[in-house]
Amino acid sequence: MSQASIFVEDWLCYNTNLGEGAYGEVKLLLHRKTKEKIACKMIDHDKYKDASLHINREVMIHKFLDHENIIKYYGRRQEPAKEYIFLEYASGGELFQMIEPDIGMPSSEAQKFMKQLMNGIKYLHGKGIAHRDIKPENLLIGADGKLKISDFGMATLFRFKGKERLLDKKCGTKPYLAPEVLQRPYYAQPADIWSCGIVLVAMLTGELPWADTTNGNEEFIKWKNEEYLCDTPWRKLGNTALALSKQILNIDSEKRLTLEQVQKHPWMKFQFGNDDESDVVDSSGEKSAKRWNSMMEAETRQNADTPDVALSQPNLPSSRKPASLVQLLKELNEGGARNGRGAFFSQPAQNADLMTHFAQSTITKENFQDFIKSMTRFYVKSTHERTLECLCNAFEQSHYTWAADASGAVVISTVDLMKNPLVFKVNLLKMDGKVMLDFRLSKGCGLEFKKKFLKLKESLKDIVDNKNI
Ligand code: ATP
Repeated sequence: MSQASIFVEDWLCYNTNLGEGAYGEVKLLLHRKTKEKIACKMIDHDKYKDASLHINREVMIHKFLDHENIIKYYGRRQEPAKEYIFLEYASGGELFQMIEPDIGMPSSEAQKFMKQLMNGIKYLHGKGIAHRDIKPENLLIGADGKLKISDFGMATLFRFKGKERLLDKKCGTKPYLAPEVLQRPYYAQPADIWSCGIVLVAMLTGELPWADTTNGNEEFIKWKNEEYLCDTPWRKLGNTALALSKQILNIDSEKRLTLEQVQKHPWMKFQFGNDDESDVVDSSGEKSAKRWNSMMEAETRQNADTPDVALSQPNLPSSRKPASLVQLLKELNEGGARNGRGAFFSQPAQNADLMTHFAQSTITKENFQDFIKSMTRFYVKSTHERTLECLCNAFEQSHYTWAADASGAVVISTVDLMKNPLVFKVNLLKMDGKVMLDFRLSKGCGLEFKKKFLKLKESLKDIVDNKNI
């Protein structure tokens, strides 16, 4: 994160990833003069031989979309071995970062995000497109604080020239999959709505109700048989939120609420005040909003010394690409044509060259502000070496497998409660003489990652710097 290199004239590429996808890294590009920021998915075709097909499908769909609740697609550049996809930069991070494990978030926030999610899905469905992998990890928060649907890798066209087709591909992420998706064929729209219902439950309770919707899943069977009321997460929901969840998570897809019905539901219209805890009470009886607010306050304090990332980004009209990006794409294409070998980088020419051109600048609060807001980072009052030692002890206590990667980050591989792989990374950053630990999810469930992050933070409590949260 401390380092940036020249990507192409006037555009700097930060060394540290914004995130990691199935086929490569996502990096932040910053325009030196205008300070515009864009995200760039870097796809490594040598490493992932099947990436092409997947990426082509994703781009085919994404490039036609233009809505305030959908991450904007700006363009792509293809090379034989590498590919670059330019996207609107979501500086607010991922939705799962805003969900406190086992707590959720205040109803007013959940309602706001649910409305925005419905708006984005309505636009998609209106265009005949189903997303098929709605989950908090694929819902990003933009510079404007609005939810943005991202990752169109599983999206498909279900309606063409007014004719709708049934879908028969089993795809998505198990805890978010509607039961009919496992049986197939299925209608596209109700299946997406179901996934949105699971997101709603996650936002309001900080939990996922089940690992999958098979008949072997005890929690799901209880739901089916309506024997769930005393169980978590349902008992954490207020009556109206529970009623809405029941109608969205209706096993019968034909009786499930339609998107328009969800939008008209009383919970979606309820005016939550500032003191909106009444609808969300956690298992211990503690008002969840209070804990969430204190968590948000801590996050605000963390960013207090630096100008808000969101504010430093120019407010772009929804359908316009940043002017400097238009220039960037032009230059890249001209550069490729000029040197006749399809090279992406006009300056320097190759990715390998790029890697040797890092400006060795130390991290400062000025460049740190470019990065996404995150609730999974904290300062320590300890040296780099001692922090590493404490981290390793904590990993061993938790029986995590870990190793250092090429960039110097520590990669932790484990499994979640549902025994699915969970991979995350820790970067130790020196910032103004202090050490900061920045945890990022690489693969797996965001909520489980946050739980593990909180446990690790607790086991490092002796060195956590609470004054500098
Ligand atoms: P997968 O299929 O494994 O979910 P993917 O290859 O489709 O991954 P994305 O999910 O799109 O990749 O991106 C991976 C991560 O990179 C995201 O979870 C997010 O943290 C980060 N990221 C992606 N796009 C953006 C963006 N536009 N702005 C900020 N961060 C982003």
